[in-house]
Amino acid sequence: MSRVLIIGAGGVAGVVVKKCAMLPEYFSEIHLASRTVSKCEKLQQEVGSDRVVGVYSVDADNANEVAELIRKVEPSLVINVALPYQDLPIMDACLETGVHYLDTANYEPKDEAKFEYSWQWAYQERFKEKGIMALLGAGFDPGVTNVYTAYAAKHYFDEIHYLDIVDCNGGDHGQAFATNFNPEINIREITQKGKYWENGEWHETAPISVRKDLDYPNVGVRPSYLLFHEELESLVKHFPTLKRARFWMTFGDAYLNHLRVLEGIGMTSIEPIDFQGQKIAPLEFLKAVLPNPGSLAEGYTGKTCIGTYVTGIKDGKEKTIFIYNNCDHAVCNAEVGAQAVSYTTGVPAMIGASMMLQGHWMKPGVWNMEQFDPDEFMERLNKYGLPWHVVECESPFKE
Ligand code: NDP
Repeated sequence: MSRVLIIGAGGVAGVVVKKCAMLPEYFSEIHLASRTVSKCEKLQQEVGSDRVVGVYSVDADNANEVAELIRKVEPSLVINVALPYQDLPIMDACLETGVHYLDTANYEPKDEAKFEYSWQWAYQERFKEKGIMALLGAGFDPGVTNVYTAYAAKHYFDEIHYLDIVDCNGGDHGQAFATNFNPEINIREITQKGKYWENGEWHETAPISVRKDLDYPNVGVRPSYLLFHEELESLVKHFPTLKRARFWMTFGDAYLNHLRVLEGIGMTSIEPIDFQGQKIAPLEFLKAVLPNPGSLAEGYTGKTCIGTYVTGIKDGKEKTIFIYNNCDHAVCNAEVGAQAVSYTTGVPAMIGASMMLQGHWMKPGVWNMEQFDPDEFMERLNKYGLPWHVVECESPFKE
């Protein structure tokens, strides 16, 4: 019996629910809970109550409430696709009830943007002692990019030295300004300082200040900016031969202009202000006026290209490979009614869950994706909608 409890009912959750529903051989029974139960009910109607058999309202900031729900549902695994703020209460509930855990983004305290694993790694011993497993960051980036790196290290190199993860959205949703996943989390991520790993230490850069024009397969040349992304932290820890590790994301000029104006007038701040007798974080308010990322799917055209450049040594010679996926917004919409950013996150979460439930990836403790053998996961990417390619190439990062 592989009963799962999915928490969250937003853009990514919609994809996880629909992909899990297509695979009764992995997920015999699906239960869905979120803050707003009507969103769970809508998803249940879409996939059928024979696949999503129970829907519930839960405040996942409250570990006791989640634990109570887990006791009622008795799942083998909780798939957390709510927001990063809920990671620790849900992990606490899993510990209390002895149930496995998976998420797609590292824990974030509401009042400071950190993007680090320290809080969740601190659960390692407790998860081990309880005999349960947590799989962290099982989306695309983090997630697939970690597995790409492990796959490169296993099959293509004796030692890996340079890593550049590149994330391009070459799509067009026709909106003046919108984010492709939860706006609050996305804008927190982009407006923080850039950070990369080189020669054994972290180096900081001003936000969106380092640019490189990169040529993405099936998309073309796009301005790409150095950002900090959480998988860098786990990858440099687990691949200590890395001399440098960086992350790049594409942004168009119009997007950056909007972002600069919003930042300039304080709308991206997470510091609560007094508004009509209420405390409100400007970024939370901004989220309320921006388009819901889930609503972008209809009419979204173009492709994403996310991948990992790895340079290292094989048989005494230096070489570079690029492992990547292209994902087409319209194709995702036709399949599951979602845009490609939700799709590229939801599919790996489903695959990660299947890997755990079937015992391919199962050991007590708290783990990042690159700590497991990548081969079966890579096969499932091809099988379930995110085919990948490997090319040997000149590194575009040789300065
Ligand atoms: P959405 O904002 O669309 O959905 C979040 C969902 O979580 C909503 O249904 C929301 O409920 C629910 N939720 C929020 N707070 C609570 C709470 N306290 N209790 C219960 N449910 C709650 O976000 P996305 O679907 O875009 O993103 C989901 C996750 O995926 C995020 O953690 C994001 O960082 C991560 N992500 C990871 C990526 C990767 O590649 N690794 C890429 C993109 C996203 P309500 O509907 O009531 O607001």
